[in-house]
Amino acid sequence: MHELSIAREIIAIVQDEMNNLNLTKIEAVNIRLGALTGINADALSFGFEASVVDTNLDGAELIIEEVPIRGKCRSCGKDFEVAEFMFLCSHCSSTDLDVITGEELDIDHLVGS
Ligand SMILES: [Zn+2]
Repeated sequence: MHELSIAREIIAIVQDEMNNLNLTKIEAVNIRLGALTGINADALSFGFEASVVDTNLDGAELIIEEVPIRGKCRSCGKDFEVAEFMFLCSHCSSTDLDVITGEELDIDHLVGS
């Protein structure tokens, strides 16, 4: 399961931050997850909950902000949400576009003490 290894990577990064910031308890880990990553948010939450048991993150909640795919059209310069993986400008129907969001997998912030 791909999400389980990602959950473990997130935990490792958070543990590094806990050391850096001298935190002993984490209540929540807020991440931003882009739709283009193909990562299933429910599976990631499940993997996280299963992996924090008996670590210093035990009890921490993973809060996932899902980021939609947005494109910016190179023809007309407008930006728009890409629905259903239709990479087509909703203003002028051009297919010449840049993806501007949707590839995120970032830890946004931690809530801890
Ligand atoms: Zn356009």
